[in-house]
Amino acid sequence: MKQKKTHLAVFAVALAALVGVLMLVSRTGYGQTQADSKAASTPALQPLALVEKRTAVAAAEKQETSLFADAAARNTVLKYELSWAFGGKQQRGWYLYTPLISRLLEMDGEAAGPDFASALSRWQTTAGLHPSGVLDDETLYRMVSAWQGSRLKNKVYATPDMLLQAPSADFYDPARPDELRQVERETYAAYKRMVAAAAADPSLGLKVTAAGELAPEEKFFKIVSSFRSREHQAALRAQSPDSGRAGLAVNSPHFTGRALDLYVGGEPVETKDSNRALQVQTPAYRWLVRNAERFGFRPYYYEPWHWEYVGVGTAENK
Ligand SMILES: [Zn+2]
Repeated sequence: MKQKKTHLAVFAVALAALVGVLMLVSRTGYGQTQADSKAASTPALQPLALVEKRTAVAAAEKQETSLFADAAARNTVLKYELSWAFGGKQQRGWYLYTPLISRLLEMDGEAAGPDFASALSRWQTTAGLHPSGVLDDETLYRMVSAWQGSRLKNKVYATPDMLLQAPSADFYDPARPDELRQVERETYAAYKRMVAAAAADPSLGLKVTAAGELAPEEKFFKIVSSFRSREHQAALRAQSPDSGRAGLAVNSPHFTGRALDLYVGGEPVETKDSNRALQVQTPAYRWLVRNAERFGFRPYYYEPWHWEYVGVGTAENK
């Protein structure tokens, strides 16, 4: 008897729950019909109110357009003329970084027009800056710190067990010696996935083998430089002691085996503005700016060829 009562109680609770769920479903209609029926049942705005609203919106848009037209005019000048500094070196303009800037602003185009200024002002708001839409030095320094902050944090000097020797076919210079073709293992696997995606992208028109690999005569996306030992780095510095290039830094990310210099056009690793201007226009570089992050690679903004593997989906990267 007691058992039967328990059964009845369980049945009652289950029935109540079922009724509850059914009521919820019919009320929300899974969240869709409610919105539709609400829109249908809400009386439309009165014609006069509608006209007033439209006029107000148009006025606000017109004001915004003229505001950003002024910002756009300033950006057109600053793009080539802004005076700023990086790594103790005087810099001129931000035109070399337009692909990265567009990516940061989640824009398709990169013309420094009113749309650009409008997108920039939204980014400035999220960055806690005055939303002027003008890409001035303060805004540029904030962008540089965003790019620099997303680079590789892992500074572990690669030990031999962390490295593999990549085939010479992966290299820009196929005659590159064995000891200079070492790459950290995960980085290499990610690089191969990324290059396979690039090779399969018809918009790049890369020369590809039947197996879908980059053809021997294709130079774009090939590795120019990977792991560099401290000894090798010291030798490079001795060769060009005056070089301010980060590639020759005492504490280079190339020590980790996770930094790859990839061929993106022009002189492979030459920081002269004219060379970088050429590189940032190539489809290969632009593809990397749009896609490398999917494969775990982040740019070093100043060197279009230098990419660092931080992994995928790591908010606090390794
Ligand atoms: Zn590099």
